Formats: sequence, C-alpha cells, structure tokens
Amino acid sequence: MIQIKMNGHAFEREIGFILALFYEDPKTAYVAEWRNDDDGALRIELTVEHTDTSARACGVLYIDGRRDEYAYERPYPAQDGKSRNKTAKQAISYTLLTLLERLTGIEQGWGILTGIRPTKLLHKLLSTGASQADAHRLLRDDYMVRPYKLELLQQIVDKQLEVVPDLYQIDRELSVYIGIPFCPTKCAYCTFPAYAIKSHTASVNPFLEGLHYEIRELGKWLTRNDLRITSIYFGGGTPTSITAEDLDALFVTLHESFPHMDKVREMTVEAGRPDTITPEKLEVMKKWKVDRISINPQSFTQETLVAIGRHHTVEETIEKYRLAMQMGLTNINMDLIIGLPNEGVAEWEHSLAEVARLMPTSLTVHTLSFKRASEMTRNRDRYRVASRDEIRQMMQMATEWTKAKGYTPYYLYRQKNILGNLENVGYSLAGQESIYNIMIMEEVQTILGLGCGAVSKLIAPESDRLTRFPNPKDPKTYNDTYKQLVDAKIKALDDVYFGTAMSI
Ligand code: SF4
Repeated sequence: MIQIKMNGHAFEREIGFILALFYEDPKTAYVAEWRNDDDGALRIELTVEHTDTSARACGVLYIDGRRDEYAYERPYPAQDGKSRNKTAKQAISYTLLTLLERLTGIEQGWGILTGIRPTKLLHKLLSTGASQADAHRLLRDDYMVRPYKLELLQQIVDKQLEVVPDLYQIDRELSVYIGIPFCPTKCAYCTFPAYAIKSHTASVNPFLEGLHYEIRELGKWLTRNDLRITSIYFGGGTPTSITAEDLDALFVTLHESFPHMDKVREMTVEAGRPDTITPEKLEVMKKWKVDRISINPQSFTQETLVAIGRHHTVEETIEKYRLAMQMGLTNINMDLIIGLPNEGVAEWEHSLAEVARLMPTSLTVHTLSFKRASEMTRNRDRYRVASRDEIRQMMQMATEWTKAKGYTPYYLYRQKNILGNLENVGYSLAGQESIYNIMIMEEVQTILGLGCGAVSKLIAPESDRLTRFPNPKDPKTYNDTYKQLVDAKIKALDDVYFGTAMSI
C-alpha cells in the first residue's frame, strides 16, 4: 500500500502515472492523515507552492524508518492559469520521480514524459526553429529524458527526414489506412478489431460491400480535391484473411476510385498471420505492386505461439516468408514481441537467431503491453511474464543485435502499461523504411481511415489541429451504418479542409 498526502494540489492522475512506472498495479490511498494500520507502507507527502514566477514542489518520503526529501522549483513559461497549472504538475511529477528513482534504484529513461510519441515532440521543437541543442536541453531539463533516449530520438528523427525529406510539408498529401477486421483466430494479447473469420463468415461479404462503397465515395472526394496520396496501408485484423479474389477486387476498386495512384509512394499489406498467406494472395499483391508486406512471427518458440493463441507454427512462418521472397515480394517486415508469456532471455536469443537466418528488410520490436481489453489482461494470473530487469536486458539485446546486423531505428512509440516502461521500435535496413509508419507516428498529415476499426485523423494543410473520426470496430455496426458513416466523414473532411461542409 502506498499512502499519499497532497498539499496545495490534487494531481492524483500525474501521481498515479509516475507510481505506475515503478510499481505494477500500485494500491494507492490519498490520505489527509497517515494511516497507522500498515507499518510497512510507503508514505509520500507532496506539496506545491506557487510563487509569483514559479511553482515549487516538495516531496518527503518515508518507509521503514527511512526519510528522504526532494524539492524542485520550475519557472512558469507564461502567467496564465493553464501554464501555471501545467508547470505545477510537471514539478510534482519531477519531484516524485526523483524520490522513487532514489528509493528503488530504477532509472526511468523517459523521465516524466507521458506521451506515446516522443519523436513527434522533438520534430515539433525542431520544425518550429529550436536548435538541436535547445530541443535536447528542454527534453532533458523539463522532462528528465535521459541522454541515451535523446540519442535514440535524434537518430530516429534524422532517419525520418532522410526517408521523407518533405516531412514538414507533407500535409498537402494524405495517407490511407484500410482496416479489414478478420483473423484466423484471436491472439491473447490483441485489442485490435479482429474477429475469427470462420465464426463471422456471414459478416464478410456485407463488410466488403461497405468497404468498396467507402473507397468509391472517398475516392470521389479525393478526386474532387485533387489530393495526392503518400502511402496506403492495409491493416486490421489481418487483411490476407479474406480470399485472393476478394483482395483482388479491393485493389480494382482502389485503382478505379483513387486519384494519382501512380504517385503513391508506398503500399503495404499486413499479411501478419502466416496461416493466411497463399500463393494466390501473394500473386494478387505482386500484380497490384504492393511494396511491403508484414509476416509476423512474434516468437520463434512454438509453445509461446500456442500459449498466445496463434494457430500457426514456427515452420509455417519461415515457409511463408521464403515463399513471398521467391514470388518477388522481397520487402518484408517482421514483428517480434519482447516479454511474451514464459519467455525470457533464452527464448528471445533464439528468436533473434532465427530472424538472423531470414534477415527481413525491417523488424519491429514490441514490448508486451497489458491492454485493458485483451484476454491476457483479463486473465493476467494465468500468464507468467519476465521481470522488469529481464525485459530491459532483452531490449538491450535487441538494440545491440539490430545494430550489429545493419538495422537502424526509424520509428518509435510508447504505450500505457508497457512492460518495463520501454517502447516499441521499428528497425529497418537502409532504404527499406515504411513511410506509412512514419506518417502515422508523427501525425504530420491526414490519415484517412476506411473499414472497420479505422480511425481517421484529419489535419488540414498548415494546421496542427487534429480531428479524430473513428469508424465502428465491429463488422455488424459497420455493415449497418456505412452509408451514414461515409456522409458524416465527408462532412468532417470538408469542415477540416475548407472550414465548412460543402454541399455535394
Ligand atoms: S493476428 Fe494481429 S490483429 Fe489478428 S488477432 Fe493476432 S494480434 Fe490481433
């Protein structure tokens, strides 16, 4: 039990976030007076005082007869109430993080940074005129981001600007995400809109009908406004869960409906589950000039695949990878997850060794995250996962392994409840980076989401205001509402791009 006394503020949310960096599922009581029913409790008193120019936070920590104290003062960047409040929150977070790092010996590389897109923050600072040194100083001083994370961020930002030199002007184009919500089975850690295709066969055709309609109608809007498309990404679910004929028909509609298809810089199809890949589907993707596909092992340990509900074998991953390569789809990403149930350093080493035999053009290293809606989180007791130290060790192995094999990091994101408060990192061999992954992560242009579970993020050129427009996650609601949905989305697009809905 952790007891917290707050004086001069009510920043429970910020305190909860910092505590969760150090303790799994911490039990916290916010008290006016210390409770004496738990002798071993960690007790922390956190006080904020406002001066005319700054917020001053002070923390005192007590545990097992030990006392530690830390004070931190931060000047207000501006005098309005919002700036003063934000500064006070940061001062409390900074103070609490420092006390807990001293208590536990655990260093938090990301400091108090809560956002899932740290690279976006660095891009924003750099694109608005900050020098690299000033941007780094701000991240270090204001957020306690440690030098090794800053180095990683800068390396990724540099790589992204090399891959997309017009990154800061790319808001004149947009990218398209197409969500196909079916998979052979549902993986235990999954919270994506993914429905086992065999038990949802009746939904597939109506869903595809809606998707064709959505592509055609949004294609008219794109054509009317003469917009160029940077990248197209088929995700889900696993898009290759549908038949080769259905996949082919989607490409036909796409090419008939979208303008400037010859100028699209990249087209990706997630073929994540090897058990969905057939020569016919590979042939279709080759015919339509798909640039990248994903074939995702997640792990090369068979027992793990069984434990997480992926009904394919390790051999099938390797076999389908080789088949795709033979058929000319050679730009292949592989996803691996650190911290899957019952996996430790030995299993991770084995997975890396297997990847080394294949050398895919890109590799995305995820750290397991316990998302609220997943089967794994609901039954967390059933799954044994590695310790925080072991997770960090595996991440370090990934960093060293990718470097030794010639991969460089090119995108990164963090998630809530991610084991060890680490991050997911996309690595790539030179010139094989995914443009779509950069677009979605840095939020520099509109992403038009079509299909189930797709979330459109609408950004007008030269604006940093982002409007979200989510499609329904389940096929039934999508199938029942796609016509109204398309009308509402076009209205939202007109609002964002032209300030007012246009009549069609
Ligand atoms: S293959 Fe991907 S989308 Fe499908 S259930 Fe597994 S994690 Fe979810």
